[in-house]
Amino acid sequence: MTIVGLDDTDSRERGMCTTYLATRLAEAIADAGGRVHRKLLIRLNPAVEHKTRGNAALALHVDLDPERVLDLAAAELEPLAETGDPRTSPGVVVADVAPDAIPDPVANFTRRAIRDLLEPRDALALVGDVGYLHRGWAGGRGRIGALAAVGAWAALDEWTYEQIAYRRFDRCGTPRKIDEASVFDAAEAFYPQAWDTVDRAEAEPVCVPNAPGPILYGIRGDDPDAVSELADRIESEPIERSATFLTNQGTDVHLRAGAIDDLREGRAYCVDGTVVTDPETRRGGHVFFELGAPDGADASVDCVAFEPTKRFRDRVRGLSPGDDVTVCGEVTDGTLKLEKFAVRSLRRQTETTPTCDGCGRSMKSAGRDQGYRCRDCGTSASGPETVELDRDLAIGWYEVPPCARRHIAKPLVRGGFDAPTHPER
Ligand code: ATP
Repeated sequence: MTIVGLDDTDSRERGMCTTYLATRLAEAIADAGGRVHRKLLIRLNPAVEHKTRGNAALALHVDLDPERVLDLAAAELEPLAETGDPRTSPGVVVADVAPDAIPDPVANFTRRAIRDLLEPRDALALVGDVGYLHRGWAGGRGRIGALAAVGAWAALDEWTYEQIAYRRFDRCGTPRKIDEASVFDAAEAFYPQAWDTVDRAEAEPVCVPNAPGPILYGIRGDDPDAVSELADRIESEPIERSATFLTNQGTDVHLRAGAIDDLREGRAYCVDGTVVTDPETRRGGHVFFELGAPDGADASVDCVAFEPTKRFRDRVRGLSPGDDVTVCGEVTDGTLKLEKFAVRSLRRQTETTPTCDGCGRSMKSAGRDQGYRCRDCGTSASGPETVELDRDLAIGWYEVPPCARRHIAKPLVRGGFDAPTHPER
């Protein structure tokens, strides 16, 4: 068996797409007499600064001679890859290996590429050690992703599906013609086997990209039949070709358990803590709060829900100092960018200055450790008053809406969480 990995063929402005290239390569391999057993679409560390958009890498499991596969990959890539864009740096890795015999170091490399930041030399050293074929263009940074995609089958144990429909190539760059009502109806019919097809509250068909490029829409879900039937119900301009990928999208595999005093840049975490400050909406509509270590230790991290996370910010604004939470997201510039959080316990009471029974006004402090007094009425109270807080949040998990979901982040509706969930759709 041969596994070919591909990455970094696209450009933000000019719009190509490595999934499209992989789909064309699969067709070329079939035309050359090979069989394509699987197509994998792997999302790597979303914190990588070189990514065009979603940090995707692709792999095909095929049965054609590795040298032949490398030649076919180069022949497909060279005319299409946007190497004129200084940020595009394509790479191909071809391994002569059965998917269930992928060496441990390669599987480990995949895990690191999903959770850490790597250098091209890390990929080149390992490719040399295991003796895989490889080729790079314009620096060949894409070999990091290409090697990670090669190792994915051994590194990952949770898989979801995406069926991608591609436009006719000559239509790329023109507005996409899709009957939105058909998208919303189809999304409703197959939810939750297929998820993140639309954002109902924002009335946005999130399966249709905004960027230039050949993708017309991509339907994601747990069940390959559901994504395919859903796609069939969408009324649109002609589809040139479509492909179904096994993916690690919607799995949260980028997250690692972490502690507030031990967070590193460029990694994504799940962290327990206690809310320290009232959430504050800053310029641009971003909502910040400070999270402290759960044991009261002297460590804290700023957490943010950015403006594009829309109604999720209202959930974050619902937090209060003293609430115990688990937060998930990537740490960049010392700030944790929230993807989801779980409320573990809510502070239900707070202490305030007592009010006077006589006049209904706030009492004044009577001096240190002397309680409170109302000077007008002469009434007094020995200490602050405990009042019940009205809380809008409940125990359990809250998430960003589909329109703001990172490809790799797990929608709550997929289940498997350790507390009740409050899914967005
Ligand atoms: P699109 O979503 O449009 O497919 P992209 O977001 O996948 O684009 P790429 O153009 O593939 O972006 O760029 C990502 C680059 O980062 C590739 O060169 C890839 O090899 C590299 N890369 C991937 N994972 C890591 C990592 N963990 N550390 C360092 N570099 C990485």
